[in-house]
Amino acid sequence: MQKVDTLIENGLIVTLDGTARVLPEGSVAIHGSTITAVGPKEEIAAVYSAETTVNAENHLVMPGLINAHTHLSMTLLRGLADDLVLEAFLERVWEAEEKFMNPPTIRLGAELAICEMIRGGTTFAQDMYWFPEATAEAARSAGFRLMNGPIFVDFEGADHTPADQREGKARTFLDKYADEELIHPCLMPHGTYTVSPPLLEIIKTLMDEYLVPLHTHASETAFEVATVQERYNETPVSQLDRFGMLQPTTTLAHGVHLAPEDIRLLAERGSAVVHCPVSNLKTAAGFAPLPALKEAGVPVLLGTDGTSSSNDLDMWKVLRFAAILARSELGDPTFNPALDVVRMATSDAARAMGLGEKLGSLEPGKYADLIMIELNKPHLTPLFDVYSQLVYAVGREDVSDVFIHGKAVMRDRRLLTLDENWIMYQARLKAEEIAG
Ligand SMILES: [Zn+2]
Repeated sequence: MQKVDTLIENGLIVTLDGTARVLPEGSVAIHGSTITAVGPKEEIAAVYSAETTVNAENHLVMPGLINAHTHLSMTLLRGLADDLVLEAFLERVWEAEEKFMNPPTIRLGAELAICEMIRGGTTFAQDMYWFPEATAEAARSAGFRLMNGPIFVDFEGADHTPADQREGKARTFLDKYADEELIHPCLMPHGTYTVSPPLLEIIKTLMDEYLVPLHTHASETAFEVATVQERYNETPVSQLDRFGMLQPTTTLAHGVHLAPEDIRLLAERGSAVVHCPVSNLKTAAGFAPLPALKEAGVPVLLGTDGTSSSNDLDMWKVLRFAAILARSELGDPTFNPALDVVRMATSDAARAMGLGEKLGSLEPGKYADLIMIELNKPHLTPLFDVYSQLVYAVGREDVSDVFIHGKAVMRDRRLLTLDENWIMYQARLKAEEIAG
């Protein structure tokens, strides 16, 4: 018998591998941070024995969800500025950020977000926010997987950093997290309307030197596109391309107002769009043209955006919107079927973020980032098609157990690496201050 650390036994295994293999009674063997084997329960039981066994009967086992665009610490600003026009919204949010968002507060907001994400089955998030070390440290100590990195803007921002000091800070971050297993460094220019050409050039140099992915906002609002057009006589996407920033591991948040030429460029370069339908609909920004993107072959990932615009970090809600939103306009109920939607938040996301070899499916050699969903519930009965169930019926409260990098971070809905009552208590105190 081969010894492994953990065996998750007798579950409905949804691998999301290349052939989308589903095992009705299967097991997953985990050793260290990675998956050793996936197979029918008898086969796995014949070869492997484990220190810890998890009974996954009546549970679906699948890769953890990937939230490809968010601003985690904004959990502390949840509901602070709703139902306002953009200018009033930004004024309220920026004022609060300016006053309250320092590294300890950002860490607290990130911890609150990580509690929420683990409870909802998200195991990996791409976060853009001030003081990225604070969020990275929160993730590392919670055992949560994070892609984040230095943010770039022309103005001083809530981190009070002049533009000419951003390169130095970026290098410090990229060096510090170069060999981390849970923290995946990335370059994060805020957007082409907030980052001017000289700074974009520096970011491109860093991209080439450190070989890390790039994540930025692009074409979220008509105002943003008009601003860039007026200043540079090009679209945000064409500008990014002119700087050589549209790479296969580049991901653009929102992509709502894209010209046909933008879509062609994205397809040619292999860069991805992160669709954030819940945030976009709430702020009346429009939404990404999914049919045109899919037809052109542009990878599309899914994100919640920050909780000051989306209010929660619920990826199941995002999956459902991503499936149904474009259909009435198209008059086509077959568009973006459930399996494709689940892939947008798992295997497609991992690949577009440069981690396709390591994440996004349950296969030997990949990191053991997986979730269990309790199926013995009225709203999940009966079960004809696993992907339909995942996209149209499953909710966050159905996630029972979560493993990240081979370690359990939630068992039986109990968080193991975070003291959520203490975090919520601290967050309420901070909110009293913010409310003033
Ligand atoms: Zn955003």
